[in-house]
Order: sequence, then C-alpha cells, then structure tokens
Amino acid sequence: MKILVLNSGSSSVKYQLLDMKNQTVLASGLVERIGEPTGLVRHKRRPSTDQEQTFTEEMPIQDHATGLARVVELITGKDTGVISAVSEINAIGHRIVHGGESFSTPTLIDEAVIEGIKAQIPLAPLHNPGGLAGIETAQRLLPGVPNVAVFDTAFHQTMAPEAYRYAIPKSLYTELKIRRYGFHGTSHLYVAKQCARLLAKPFAETSCVTVHLGNGCSMAAIKNGKCIDTSMGLTPLAGLVMGTRSGDVDPALHAFLADNKNLSIREIDTILNKQSGLKGMCGHNDMRDIHDLIAQGDEDAQLALRVFCRRVTQYIGQYLALLDGTDAVCFTAGIGENDHVVRRLSCATLSGVGAILDTHLNAEAPRGKAVEISASNSRVKIFIIPTNEELEIATQTLEVLG
Ligand code: AMP
Repeated sequence: MKILVLNSGSSSVKYQLLDMKNQTVLASGLVERIGEPTGLVRHKRRPSTDQEQTFTEEMPIQDHATGLARVVELITGKDTGVISAVSEINAIGHRIVHGGESFSTPTLIDEAVIEGIKAQIPLAPLHNPGGLAGIETAQRLLPGVPNVAVFDTAFHQTMAPEAYRYAIPKSLYTELKIRRYGFHGTSHLYVAKQCARLLAKPFAETSCVTVHLGNGCSMAAIKNGKCIDTSMGLTPLAGLVMGTRSGDVDPALHAFLADNKNLSIREIDTILNKQSGLKGMCGHNDMRDIHDLIAQGDEDAQLALRVFCRRVTQYIGQYLALLDGTDAVCFTAGIGENDHVVRRLSCATLSGVGAILDTHLNAEAPRGKAVEISASNSRVKIFIIPTNEELEIATQTLEVLG
C-alpha cells in the first residue's frame, strides 16, 4: 500500500510518499513559492537512508496544479523516482487545517466533503483554500485514486462544551461558531498513541499531556485516549508562546493598541501573529539562535526563554489538574524533541504535581528516539516522543479505506 501525503499551503505543497507495508518514506519534498516568479522544488529520494538523494530545482510554478504535476514527475521519474507509474499510488491523504464542527474524523473526500471544507474557509481563510487546491489538483492528476481529508482540528472535537466554549455572548457561538477548536491534532494523536505504546497500555486507557513545541506550539490534555482540552483556540494564536506568535495575552490588548497606537485590527493581528513570541521579545524565533544569544549574555533572549518555559509549565500544571490522574507528559516537535534546556526549565517546578525529571537522562537523551526522561520516583512519567504527522495522516487514510 503506497500513500501519498499532501500538505498544501497557500503557496507551498509538502509531500511524502510512504510505503505502509513497512512504514518507510520512499520520497519526500517541498514545492515552495507557488505563484511567484521563481518557484523552488526540493525533492528527496529515499530520505534518511544510505541511498538518500536530494534534487533541487528552481522553476516558475504558476499554481498548485503545476507544482503537483512536477511532484508526480519526480516520484515516477527514471533518475528521481521511486515508483514506475502513478497507478502504484493507492490513496492520497490530505492535511486539512480546519474541519470546524463538521469533521471529527478523517473522511473520504467527495463533492459534499469538498463543500464542507469550503464552508470552513471563514474559520481558516489562509489555510483551507490551499488544502482545497491540493485536493482538486490531486483529483485531476490522479483520477480514480481515493482522496482522504485528515483534519488538524478533528482530534480536539471530543472536548466538552465547558472546554471549548468562551465566556462571550452565546449568539457569537451560534451565529459564527466562535469557540475553541485547537490545532496540531494529528501530532497530538500520534504522540499520545506512541505514549500508550511506551506504557504498554491500551490507548483508550491512556491519559497524558502532549506538549508540541515547534515553530507553532500547543498542548493537549488527553484522558482515556480522548482530547479534553487544548491550548490553541479559535485560531492558532492562543495558548503557549511560539516562534512569532504571542500566545495568550490580555484580550483587551486589541482595544488598548487601537486607542494608544492608532493601529488597525489587521495591523494588531499581524503584530501578534508575526512579530511577537520569541521573535518579538528578542528578535529571533529559532530556539537554537536564542541559546547562542544567551551564551553571549543577551538578556532579552534569556527572558524570552524564561517566558516561553514558564508558559509551558503553567499549561502542564493546568492540564494535570484537569486530568485528575495522568500517566505521562510527552514532549514533541523541533524544540520539544531537541532542546533539553527548555524541557528542564519547563519541568523544574513540577515535582509537586508528580512529574520529576531525571536531569541526566534529559540532557543525554538520544535524538530521534522515543525515550523516558523522568526520575524513577516520578509518579507521572515524562517522555520525549518524536512526532510524525505524515505517518499519522497515512495511517488514518488507510483506516478510512478499510
Ligand atoms: P518544527 O516546527 O517542529 O519543525 O520545529 C521547528 C523549530 O524547532 C525551530 O524553529 C527551532 O526553534 C526548533 N529546533 C529545531 N532543532 C532544534 C534544536 N536542536 N535545539 C533547539 N531547538 C530546535
């Protein structure tokens, strides 16, 4: 069974071709700058193996159809390819950012589903159109191959109203569906399932806090295999401090900035999404750069790191309280998997709530492996679990197809 996973953004398409027989990645890549004068294609044949080859090309890519056509050529090409014909692709799994309240599971795509995804565009105006372009192009280029939509919001649809409703006028919920949705659902689900595997427990009996710290950061509280709360909200701006996003701020900030800086709502939105977070505090959004700055004595970078980690601690504490009994806290994504300092600072005051880090295991943790980093006397285990959203999308695509 070969599954092509597509993650189509507004001007990019990320792809992976997976062989699900042995869960290996046959090819992967990224088409960028779609619609700009010079597009960029980066293609990897047999990535992360000793046969890995990388192909890079610059070419104009007018639209998603041109980009995806090039991907098909690359994965079937004599020198670049891994399959001889597109007919070897059994299904396509699409990452779709927003499923609103309409989609709580991965779904086989037909006309009604496309209409359903279009209906969520007001909730994800920057993201869902890219996903739709990917679906429409895949249907045209690979006719007869089933397409499955895997929604970033779906895993969080099990939240109860007290978790997802905001304390604002009810009509705003009923008219505009303003509520907490949460994102990164595919990653949280994958990591929670791996956590169950490490604990040798059935997933439906596993409770954990998943801490996704990448460019975007979010957390989920999972009770008996179901999400009961998550830190992102109506949009991915809420919750933890991120690379360029502020996370939680006083909701009166918009009015204050509009009054005092004469800024428009759009300008404020750009500040909070693109110029805040780590970048806003110290000028850099990559955690590796922040450590370099701290080593040079940069106090802004030091404070940005402390603010980032304090927010992680606060959310873990919140979720441990909500879960009322947790098996594990699981760190994942670029920062969560690789940054032992962030994990140490984030866990520093959690011993009172039962999660004690083994600082040696934490500092020496091997890269790219799921490992335990909690002390032997820790009631709540602490794990590092590498996320794999593409594999989870491919797995869910297979499940939908039975
Ligand atoms: P992701 O969105 O999961 O790909 O994570 C990307 C982010 O992970 C980058 O912006 C970095 O801040 C962070 N990151 C990646 N590698 C490391 C590392 N070795 N140490 C600290 N942070 C890292």
